[in-house]
Amino acid sequence: MTAPAQTGPASGAAPSSASVIAAETPVLAHNYHPLPVVVARAEDVWVEDVEGRRYLDMLAGYSALNFGHRHPALTAAAHRQLDALTLTSRAFHHDKLAGFAAGLARLTGLDMVLPMNTGAEAVESGIKLARKWAYEVKGVPADQATIVVAADNFHGRTTTLISFSTDPVARDGFGPFTPGFRIVPYNDLPALEAAIDETTAAVLIEPIQGEAGVVIPDDGYLTGVREATRRAGCLFLADEIQSGLGRTGRTLAVDHEDVVPDVLLLGKALGGGIVPVSAVVARRDVMEVLSPGEHGSTFGGNPLAAAVGSAVVDLLATGEYQRRAAELGEVLRAGLSALTGRGVVAFRSRGLWAGIDIDPSLGTGRHISELLMAEGILVKDTHGSTIRLAPPLTITREDLEGALASLGKVLG
Ligand SMILES: *Cc1c(COP(=O)(O)O)cnc(C)c1O
Repeated sequence: MTAPAQTGPASGAAPSSASVIAAETPVLAHNYHPLPVVVARAEDVWVEDVEGRRYLDMLAGYSALNFGHRHPALTAAAHRQLDALTLTSRAFHHDKLAGFAAGLARLTGLDMVLPMNTGAEAVESGIKLARKWAYEVKGVPADQATIVVAADNFHGRTTTLISFSTDPVARDGFGPFTPGFRIVPYNDLPALEAAIDETTAAVLIEPIQGEAGVVIPDDGYLTGVREATRRAGCLFLADEIQSGLGRTGRTLAVDHEDVVPDVLLLGKALGGGIVPVSAVVARRDVMEVLSPGEHGSTFGGNPLAAAVGSAVVDLLATGEYQRRAAELGEVLRAGLSALTGRGVVAFRSRGLWAGIDIDPSLGTGRHISELLMAEGILVKDTHGSTIRLAPPLTITREDLEGALASLGKVLG
């Protein structure tokens, strides 16, 4: 008998990147187009691929990794909780949820927390809450509630959320769509005010549009949205799933204008890069329209999520990460300013978050991302020739300057 042909790598050796990627193609849905890097381990701002190459992670899980990979305080909280209790469902109380909710309320200056898992679920929950509030408190006739949203938004991928997307790639082929949404241009207060009427439950916007390319509205826009919604007697829902939790140099992006929304949607970094954790945080009189049985989630607020989420809140309560994002944000801005006209057409940045429009003659954002990967820098294009930088807030000044130098090199 002959030995079977050796098809895979020698036992014990890690598979190559190419073999992992080839193995995915026939069995994994093709809803992503990842860069050809196969990550096997990571620490703080560095990831390592199966062949042992190291890369600086300048995407940080779309801001889910604001504290870097495997932050010791977060993994310690997760390990402790794994050894005590991981899941009860909300059919029973557990000993970690009240502390998490109280900490998150204190951090955000709002009153009550509805814990969920993914960002999309938090937005869906915020929409349900706003509609219920419209019927029970505002007196909107049954099934007539409207929600005003902005063009070029990104709020997640469920059928309702894509119903008011303006991105044909996200929408086409997935109808029929959920009614009840009015789309107005972003950063346009007159259009927003014109769209609000007596049926309007809420205005739902991102204080900075992340997926659109880190689009920052004019100073005064968020204040204007706050004033318009207050005047009209509807809610202001701020989707801070990507912009929140330290990314912009403040705890929340709305903090830059000292605006307090009625309802805040959080996710991504709330799970510390360990587990999916999201939350709706709201004023008491709004959240109290929900009664037992009207909304829920098997995993929402589970003990592991609550323990990790509490540890995230504790990190943010120190102010250290917000301060780092603000200070290093100046380094990022200076570096991008220096590249403007030298491959960078324009950029928008706040804190450690930037959308960079690359000269299209140099290639697509995808192409630039591939060139940066070859330099040991991982980034992601948003669309067209725009790339986004969102490193962990733990990045050092030296590593940030190194990444900017690599960007200069691939553009030069
Ligand atoms: C990522 C994101 C979401 C959706 O979060 P998921 O966890 O992917 O469902 C919603 N809103 C904004 C602004 C986001 O960036």
